[in-house]
Formats: sequence, structure tokens, C-alpha cells
Amino acid sequence: MTVGPALESKQIWFLTGSQGLYGQDVINQVEANSRDIAEQLDAADALASRIVWKPVLTDADAIRRLALEANADDACVGIIAWMHTFSPAKMWISGLDALRKPLLHLHTQANVELPWGEIDMDFMNLNQAAHGDREFGYIQTRIGVVRKTVTGHVSDPSVSERIGTWARAAAATTTLRSMKLARFGDNMRNVAVTEGDKIEAELRFGVSVNTYGVNDLVESVDAVPDAGIDSLVAQYQDLYTVSTELRPGGQRHESLRYGARIELGLRSFLGDGGYTAFTTNFEDLGGLRQLPGLAVQRMMADGYGFGAEGDWKTSVMLATMKVMARGLPGGTSFMEDYTYHLVPGRERILGAHMLEVCPSIAAGKPTLEIHPLGIGGRADPVRLVFDASPGPAVILGIADMGDRFRLVANEAEVIQPDHPLPNLPVARAVWKPAPNLRTSTEAWLTAGGPHHTVLSTALNAEHLWDFAEMTRTELVMIDADTRPRRFLQELRWNQAYYRLAQGL
Ligand code: MN
Repeated sequence: MTVGPALESKQIWFLTGSQGLYGQDVINQVEANSRDIAEQLDAADALASRIVWKPVLTDADAIRRLALEANADDACVGIIAWMHTFSPAKMWISGLDALRKPLLHLHTQANVELPWGEIDMDFMNLNQAAHGDREFGYIQTRIGVVRKTVTGHVSDPSVSERIGTWARAAAATTTLRSMKLARFGDNMRNVAVTEGDKIEAELRFGVSVNTYGVNDLVESVDAVPDAGIDSLVAQYQDLYTVSTELRPGGQRHESLRYGARIELGLRSFLGDGGYTAFTTNFEDLGGLRQLPGLAVQRMMADGYGFGAEGDWKTSVMLATMKVMARGLPGGTSFMEDYTYHLVPGRERILGAHMLEVCPSIAAGKPTLEIHPLGIGGRADPVRLVFDASPGPAVILGIADMGDRFRLVANEAEVIQPDHPLPNLPVARAVWKPAPNLRTSTEAWLTAGGPHHTVLSTALNAEHLWDFAEMTRTELVMIDADTRPRRFLQELRWNQAYYRLAQGL
């Protein structure tokens, strides 16, 4: 029961610029070449969404009307533009100024090799993206159009990879524009970093964040029919290694049935309201008999955003990154930096949460267990327990700096735990942050990055950069090149830039 859009239902429109100066024969050739490039991109494995070719553009009115159509079409998540010939850029001003969808400037040409022996002025006039795209780059920069620029021939796999990465970020950004998040209760009392400006979030990202009393959810949980619970419990037994006490006939089987009841109630409440992200708070459980653990874990695996302790900002980012990552190998989960292994040369971060880690990052078949929970004051909650699968990862946090949101990210390598963790009753991940634990954490703390994050082994830094650009949000990336003093300067430069960029 995946939530969010299927990426193959989304479109990227492929626009080609030219002009009438060269005659219809040249326009016909431009059209044939650009169709060919659009078809090759559409067929590339790296492109999850459809590439839709649009007729060659040679005048300002057609360009402006196409931009307005793109804005109005929910299936269109972004625009690729390429100037096959020279295309005098004043004809692009009104259209680019009106465009509200993400833009990628593809700097390419039809041929790979320069035909040294045959080249003449006809070839030169037809294949002059080298300067046509410079004219287009100028007008975009002059107007202040945010875009990604990609250079290379379409036959180069790195070109379709980079476009595919951007297209995933574009689909996620467009989905975020109409996302709805339900908070059950407020955020945890006295916690600073989970606070935030919900109006700014709706303006910047589009997401609508609203609160329900937790007992609205309890009504939905209590109304779940027993038959639904029977069949869900049967599914659990197929999917997970269920502990003996939780199995039918086991001493604590009723706790598992209540866990299934929470899941079905949550799914029905969120489904009815069109919500694809949510938060809970252990301080505010109303008539819930357990803190939702298993339910949250399984719903994250279906694409729902989640933040614990009322952390709606992290929930929004998780739902967004789930859209970006759809269909890619690896997983994406809510995460919290918990504790360190500080042995020199073998430093690691152990991340986990009280319950809520997504099984999409699990290394093997999770076990379904029940253990006491010291907080929340309710019955012991059921939860999935597993280690995270090793691999390259990115970790993203979001903080409200008062006048804007700041994204803080870290490249990392998820690794096997050094030893088994038989007494840890929650799912967890162990990773080595780049460039090393000291620089990573000093930079993260200096940036004011949060303790709740999204960890993804499906996405990479380029997905996050593309998303940050599209939403015009500050992103500071901690990676192999990070040097602490330069990083501090970057924060100060960003502070100046983002304040100036807001205007008056
Ligand atoms: Mn937490």
C-alpha cells in the first residue's frame, strides 16, 4: 500500500530552442534531432519519469504559453531546455519569469564527434549549442532562474544519471507542494529543535501541517474490525520472525493484536484525510494503550513520512525523500544519532530510536518483539528489531533558524556492527560519517543540525543538492572535502546570503 505518486506517472517536458532565421529545413532537422534525444532519455534506465517532447520553440509567445501550461499541469514535474541552434534569449524572458516548475538546462549537441573532414557552414549553423546555450545561460542568470546545468552527450550514462537524479528531486518537490501532514498532539515539551514555522513551511515547500487531538486517532483505532486484525497478524507471521510470546496462543499475543489495531486505525485515519506524513508524541497518547512502534515502522516502509516527539519537519523530509528514492535499491528511514564508539581510528555512530526505524534499511528479516518502554506510561509496545544493511548513505536534518530553514547533511558509510547487539531491543544502524567522526560532528553541531534525521542508503548528495536548489533552501553538506574552519566561514557567508536574498 505505497503512498505518494508513481514516478512513471510524472512527466518531464523536453523543450528545444531555435529561431526562424535559418529556414524550415533547419527547423525540421532540429526537430528530428531533439525528438531523438528526448526518446533516448525517455528510454534510459536512470529516468524514472517520462520525457515528453514538445515542438521546437522559436518565439516569445509560444515559450510563455508553454511555461504557463507546465505550471498548470500536475503531471509535469519539471522542464528540460536545450538550445540546438542559437535562440535569441530575449524571447525566453517572459516564459522563464513565469515558470514555476524546476528547470534543467541540458547543454548538449546531436553529434558526439566533430566531422573534421566534412564540416561546413551549414553544419556550424545547425549545431551551435556551444554558443546558443551560452546565450540561454546568460538570460537565466540575469533573471535569477534557479536551475541545474548538465553538460554532455545523451549517450553518456553519466548524463542520464544526473538528469535522472534531478528528475527524482523534481518529482519529490512537486509532490511536496501539495503534501499534507497530520500531527497527533504537539511536539515534545521544552524541546527546541522540533519547533518550527509552519507558515514558512507551507510557503517554501507547499506542505500543510495541522494538528489533531490524539483521541481523534484513538476513535479510528477502536473502530477497527477484528477480521482486519486477524489477517494483518497473519501477514506479520509471513514477513517477520515473530517472538514466541507474541504468536497466536502466546502469552502476549493480545499486545500484537493491539499493535495491528493501531496500524489499521492509523492507515484509515491518514488515508481518509489524504495525509502522507504524520507525527506522534509519547507525552500525549490519550486512549492509546501502546506507543505506536510497529505500525509506524511498517508505514514508513510504505512511503509515509514520520517524526517522533512531534517532529513534523523531519517527517516532511522523510516523506519527500521517500518519493525521491522510489524504486531505487537501498532504504530510507527516520533516524536519531544516539551514541558513539570513540575508539581511535574505529569511530562509529550508533543510530536508532525508541521504536521507529524503517525496515526498508533492514539487513535481513526483522524480528517482531515486545519489550518494556520506560517512557510514555503505557503498555509495552511491539516493534521490529534489525540491523541496517551496509552501504553508502546520506543523512539529512532540517532546522528552523528563525528566518529560514537550514538543511544539514552528511555523507556516511553504514557498516556492520562490530559485534552483535543482543540486548538492544530496537532497530539500529551503525555508520562512519565522512570525513571522520570528529570533523563530521563538530561541523554538524556548529551548523545547529538536529538530532532527528533521515538516513538514506538509496539517495546520494546530488539528490539533496538538487532538492535544495529547487526549493531555494540552504543546504550545508559535510563530506570528504569538509574542513572545519572553511565550514564555519561557509555558514557565515550563507547567513549573509540568505538574509540578503530575502529582500525587505
Ligand atoms: Mn527522538
